[in-house]
Amino acid sequence: MARHTLPTLVAIDGPAGSGKSSVSRAAARRLGFAYLDTGAAYRALAWLALDRNTDKTQADAVTALLKDFDYSIGTDPDEYYVTVGQTDVTDAIRSPEVSAAVSAVARVPAVREALTELFRSLAANVDRPGVVVEGRDITTIVAPEAEVRILLTASEEARMARRSAEITTQSAQTVAEQLRSRDRADSQVVDFMSAADGVITVDSTHLDFEQTIEAVIDVYHTCTKRALNE
Ligand code: C5P
Repeated sequence: MARHTLPTLVAIDGPAGSGKSSVSRAAARRLGFAYLDTGAAYRALAWLALDRNTDKTQADAVTALLKDFDYSIGTDPDEYYVTVGQTDVTDAIRSPEVSAAVSAVARVPAVREALTELFRSLAANVDRPGVVVEGRDITTIVAPEAEVRILLTASEEARMARRSAEITTQSAQTVAEQLRSRDRADSQVVDFMSAADGVITVDSTHLDFEQTIEAVIDVYHTCTKRALNE
């Protein structure tokens, strides 16, 4: 039987608007690694809850959705897609309705357990030498043993400005309010605002996109060199 070498794991956590998704994807591309967006799974489950008119405040009802959750995600940084069953939900999961519903779904412990298992399995089975996994609890819960663990932060002002530049269908004020309320709800469940032991913080407040990717790649090299010397 062929020996299965586990891919190198680069875990990146951080709040919305920190540049996490685009930076993680670009870093994966440069390293020749796969890219796993974990927020997409919580979003896809929230999409399913809305599609089925499930009361998302009822943990049992949300948990019951898991048995029909036929989820698939592209982990090639150049071929990103998200499907639930036969439906392509790549764009639908970014809607304001899904963004407003996702925290309620993500706070259900059975959902977190099931999706954590799913992420571990997806990350272990990529067809690349490594994988960049991004989310809120990757450095702490999903892959605390990852070779590279990064918390990507930015000031609240910078995060709001970036997000409102991305979302042109809503006013800057509405975007900021929604982001603040989602961060508040999410941080009751996982702490993604402060770095856990051994996690390196990259603050992107004063960095542009390219500089942030470089900072992440630098941390990757520092951590992998250190591991080699140990
Ligand atoms: O990263 P993104 O903003 O797409 O994540 C959507 C939502 O999924 C977050 O607001 C949070 O509720 C949830 N999430 C989580 N744990 C993760 C990734 C995302 O709870 N690892």
